[in-house]
Amino acid sequence: MSNSIFWFRRDLRLADNAGLYRALKSGDTIIPIFIFDINILNDLENKQDKRVAFIHDAITKLDTELKNLGSHLVVKYGDPLAEITALINQYTIKNIYTNHDYEPYAQHRDATITQLLQNNNGKLLTYKDQVIFEQDEVVKNDGLPYTVFTPYSKKWKAKMKPYFVKPYPTEKYFTQLSTTHTPTTIPSLQSMGFEQMSLDFPDLFAPEGIIENYHDTRDIPSIAGTTKLGIHLRFGTISIRALAQQAMLLNEKFLNELIWRDFYQQIVWHFPHVVNGSFRPVYDAIPWRNNAAEFDAWCTGNTGYPIVDAGMRELNTTGWMHNRVRMIVASFLTKHLLIDWRWGEAYFAKKLNDFDLASNNGGWQWAAGSGVDAAPYFRIFNPKLQTEKFDKQLKYIKYWVPELNSLTYTKPIVDHDIARKRCLEVYKIGLGKL
Ligand code: FAD
Repeated sequence: MSNSIFWFRRDLRLADNAGLYRALKSGDTIIPIFIFDINILNDLENKQDKRVAFIHDAITKLDTELKNLGSHLVVKYGDPLAEITALINQYTIKNIYTNHDYEPYAQHRDATITQLLQNNNGKLLTYKDQVIFEQDEVVKNDGLPYTVFTPYSKKWKAKMKPYFVKPYPTEKYFTQLSTTHTPTTIPSLQSMGFEQMSLDFPDLFAPEGIIENYHDTRDIPSIAGTTKLGIHLRFGTISIRALAQQAMLLNEKFLNELIWRDFYQQIVWHFPHVVNGSFRPVYDAIPWRNNAAEFDAWCTGNTGYPIVDAGMRELNTTGWMHNRVRMIVASFLTKHLLIDWRWGEAYFAKKLNDFDLASNNGGWQWAAGSGVDAAPYFRIFNPKLQTEKFDKQLKYIKYWVPELNSLTYTKPIVDHDIARKRCLEVYKIGLGKL
């Protein structure tokens, strides 16, 4: 029997894992591996990064599950190309199975691994796992990608069949897992330059009633009305198929949010230029003010706009921010302060535990107006009206900004009416509308 590898990446679970299922079913003996990728880890400035702790915890659990099945996880810390080259030589590997990753860095990395395997008469075999529909699966009748959400979501729903959310029964083939490969130890967080951190992550399941009541509760930041499953979807500790099944049964509004996630993933795959530039290149001509002191006030939650400050403090303290408030703070940064959306995007990328390149980029370009199906440039959220609508009793704000009614609270760093007028002028100049 030949040896092949299953490479875990953002799919850190044994159950209902598309690529793992294909690997085990191939009849080869499968060596499961995970690589802490130094190309990603070296870029993380914060050595208390909770996402690294989350991954570390998830692969420790995976290894325990594999040990209960008589196997174990090979865990490496290094450059994937070098680590995989060494493993191919050590175990005479035929093929490597893994799941698709649509981000540009991952595409580049996978191309180098494909080449390596080709040179060894093997293949990198990759499968769709982290979304329901990917790449070209939901496109317009003329074959071009959708860039507007509503028609995309209609086509998505029309295409949906029970088959697409059926779990992959990996458990049927666990006997194919290798039991003889050399044990490795999982590198500690400290050995990789990170600190040991408390693991206070959301549960793997949406709390009771959240999905059922999602349409009523999702927009109110003072209540726990959303699932907080973002981090589990990001690292694949839950299956998107299982969650989409629940969504289809229980709540269409919730299903729509999962479709937004697919939508942004296919945007990054079709239009990789969005990672560095505006989806609509004309928006790159906006003369951003990029005032460093104002950016600092925004980052630290000291703008004098209570809903903005509450959101930024929630993010800085917990690594999560409510979606409604993400939209408000992003609009404030780009439109009230005229700071380049990429600054805000990069700050969120550092701070969000559920950070996902495609959704974060999509959210920021939506707020700035530069993206697919984005808020038009003249739509400028009014923080006061947003507060009246979504935090009327100031419960959320008072929790995060306890000094709200005291003299110590910062005065607004910019006047709303002046900022609104300035934004319209600057955007019009940038977009050539004046
Ligand atoms: P729920 O409301 O319970 O939704 C369930 C899941 O659906 C989420 O976990 C997420 O995977 C998906 N989802 C929900 N809303 C959206 C959306 N608008 N776009 C794409 N997927 C969605 N989401 C991320 O996963 N990672 C990010 O880095 C991210 N950055 C954002 C930045 C900005 C500026 C904005 C406006 C939104 C961003 N979002 C991001 C989308 C959304 O805010 C979060 O997915 C959501 O708040 C996460 O909380 P939850 O898990 O309780 O979501």
